[in-house]
Amino acid sequence: MSYTGSIPDTLAHRHDWMADMACRTEKPETFFEKKHEHEARVICAVRCRVRAQCLAHVQRLERGDAEDRRDGVVAGLTAHERWRLDATAPGHSDKPALVFTGEPPRCGTYSALLRHLWMGEQIDPECWSGEIRRERLNRATTATRKEPAEPAPVPKPVMAPRKQPQAKGGTPHERRIYRLWAEGLTDLQIARRMAISVPQVERVCVRLGLLPNAHTKKAS
Ligand code: SF4
Ligand SMILES: [Zn+2]
Repeated sequence: MSYTGSIPDTLAHRHDWMADMACRTEKPETFFEKKHEHEARVICAVRCRVRAQCLAHVQRLERGDAEDRRDGVVAGLTAHERWRLDATAPGHSDKPALVFTGEPPRCGTYSALLRHLWMGEQIDPECWSGEIRRERLNRATTATRKEPAEPAPVPKPVMAPRKQPQAKGGTPHERRIYRLWAEGLTDLQIARRMAISVPQVERVCVRLGLLPNAHTKKAS
């Protein structure tokens, strides 16, 4: 079989590229926890050989979805960023969609980085420097905020034991996988829906004790 075009040949082997996903060997938390967003972005944009396919996949999969139906960092973009960049997504009244038409934003700015990531463009050193500067500033601001301004108040004694919530999963990522599993989706279907790898889904299912049902249920 030969393929000579410049666009990834995702039609003939729609999900073969998933074998090369750089996130396959990473911890799921890296892609689903806010404090790791920058790290995940770097893995996607610098280390992943299939970011173009992943980007096309997630754009197709999430097109028109509300913000709360998106999860984690995919193709270097956070769930919130992908929602802002999808002009067809609902709920843009207070935060308008980021539609890049006309003159591209100046390199080094956050907008320019988002444009490169969303359009599948190469990220130039100036835009990376901008991202690293913003990340350092974020960390410094978070560290300052964490310093206690005054002694913490003495906690009141708890009289009754707290009722444990029944939700399965300790992170939004795990809860999303659980919800999809509960809908009857197989591991592969969950992986495709969330643009993550099957082993990542399996690891969470094992952790949540869902493995025995994952293969017996049928998607509706
Ligand atoms: S989320 Fe997509 S771009 Fe990022 S590492 Fe995984 S496959 Fe690559
Ligand atoms: Zn740039």
